[in-house]
Amino acid sequence: MKDQDSTLDISGILKSDGGSQHCVRSVDLSETDPSFSDVVFDAEFRNISGVVTVRATVSGVYSGVCDRCLEPVSRGLSAGIDTVVTADSSKDDSIAVKDSRIDLVRTAYDALNLELPTVFLCREDCKGLCQSCGANLNEGPCGCGR
Ligand SMILES: [Zn+2]
Ligand SMILES: [Zn+2]
Repeated sequence: MKDQDSTLDISGILKSDGGSQHCVRSVDLSETDPSFSDVVFDAEFRNISGVVTVRATVSGVYSGVCDRCLEPVSRGLSAGIDTVVTADSSKDDSIAVKDSRIDLVRTAYDALNLELPTVFLCREDCKGLCQSCGANLNEGPCGCGR
């Protein structure tokens, strides 16, 4: 069951010139990176003269810790994909197809990873931790030193 869920069979659209296919699938990334949950892959495939394009939105929730105050934070992420499906996996901005299937786990993970901010904060103006006593300064001044 699980193996089948991690890939998407697009043999129908690969064969139908001029056709299109819409699909929505939930993707389990828990084995790749448990920080991601509630991941949904929503895609529109189109076959134009044998070239299959895909426009997709990958959404999910990322759970991590704030880089400044180390409190747990969860944030919704959404990534857009607009590319072609090709058997040539050396093109890195395309989605590789193998045995008429695409790897949903890898596609969704790669797309969401790109949306992660380099600095992950619980909020824009997080005050972080006091460098001397380690208190969370979002909860008020720690009163030490100064
Ligand atoms: Zn914070
Ligand atoms: Zn302090």
